[in-house]
Amino acid sequence: MNETAKRARAAIDLAAVRSNVRALRERAPGSELMAVVKSDGYGHGAVPCARAARAAGAAWLGTALPEEAFALRAAGDTGRLMCWLWTPGGPWRKAIELDIDVAVSGLWALREVTAAARACGRTARVQLKIDTGLGRNGCQPADWAELTRAARAAEAEGALTVTGVWSHFACADEPGHPSIAAQLAAFREALGTAEAAGLRPEVRHLANTPATLTLPEAHFDLVRAGIGVYGVSPSPEVGTSEDFGLRPAMTLEASLASVKRVPGGHGVSYGHRYSTPGATTLALVPLGYGDGIPRHASGAGPVLVAGKWRTVAGRIAMDQFVVDLGGEHAEAGDPAVLFGPGDRGEPTAEDWGRAAGTIGYEIVTRIGTRVPRVYVDSDIRNGARQEPEGNTTLTGGTT
Ligand SMILES: *Cc1c(COP(=O)(O)O)cnc(C)c1O
Repeated sequence: MNETAKRARAAIDLAAVRSNVRALRERAPGSELMAVVKSDGYGHGAVPCARAARAAGAAWLGTALPEEAFALRAAGDTGRLMCWLWTPGGPWRKAIELDIDVAVSGLWALREVTAAARACGRTARVQLKIDTGLGRNGCQPADWAELTRAARAAEAEGALTVTGVWSHFACADEPGHPSIAAQLAAFREALGTAEAAGLRPEVRHLANTPATLTLPEAHFDLVRAGIGVYGVSPSPEVGTSEDFGLRPAMTLEASLASVKRVPGGHGVSYGHRYSTPGATTLALVPLGYGDGIPRHASGAGPVLVAGKWRTVAGRIAMDQFVVDLGGEHAEAGDPAVLFGPGDRGEPTAEDWGRAAGTIGYEIVTRIGTRVPRVYVDSDIRNGARQEPEGNTTLTGGTT
């Protein structure tokens, strides 16, 4: 272990990322898979995870911001790549020149991308987004016919190609929610309108991870999977990671900074929200909200120390928190595992999500830059044959 990783580390298992991509592809055998690597690969590191996802057959990568897509190109990725969160005056020209598919949700964006394509003499790849009910980004159905006609006119002129029509679910993580069927119907109608306008998109896509896992009728040509790539279940209602053959890729671990005996009645951490019930041993974990450990999990977050689940005692501070070992033995330098795949007795990111009143997505994504990512490959560690990486389009080291 390198010195910077001695305090704490997030070990990312790239074999788990590859096997998750394969498991998700098996769920949607008739569709291509887009691995969503926004927000630094949900905190796992966008470039190494993108590389692992490509190796396991992800035909597409997806990001929210154009800058996130540019970083993948800079790292050597040459495959299909899409980004969707644009604001007026965004870097359209650079995206066009880097062969990145761009999302367009309204006429202002269509005008900007058309102007940028004319300015650089290239054809933009545009994916039109319809709001089928999420109420976030996307063109309202009432404006969709106009947007598709305007896009077709720009296509005829050679400024752009409409490569995709797509939308996003609101409640795919709540199986049976009535909005799911309504969004599917609205999407089919929007596809019909696009076709009537003369558009022939190469990919139609709607499914995120929960829809990839549970809604075959939503798979269309492409599924966009984010959280499942990292092995975390989208919600307890959908099922556990294990139910779908997914394996959490991140293990967050620290080395105890102090272990000491204290008498009963000893206040612990800011505000003294915890007091030792009797003489005991306190262990100090050198991670805090400055590393992305949610302060909302004060008094609640689970940690594996000295062979047992312990609970955060008192408040989580910026850099550290305390666990009460109940008089049991440990030493400074011993491991404290906050979360991992869960099969060595440690909690999972979903357990932390419950403890903090949030979701596993937020737990892994928030882990800050102060925590070094260490890339491991369980296929190599276990001496198993490693995947041939012939399909990889990213170059450069992963660690
Ligand atoms: C984040 C995101 C996804 C991936 O969602 P998961 O639930 O993580 O699979 C897919 N599509 C869009 C538009 C997104 O913003």
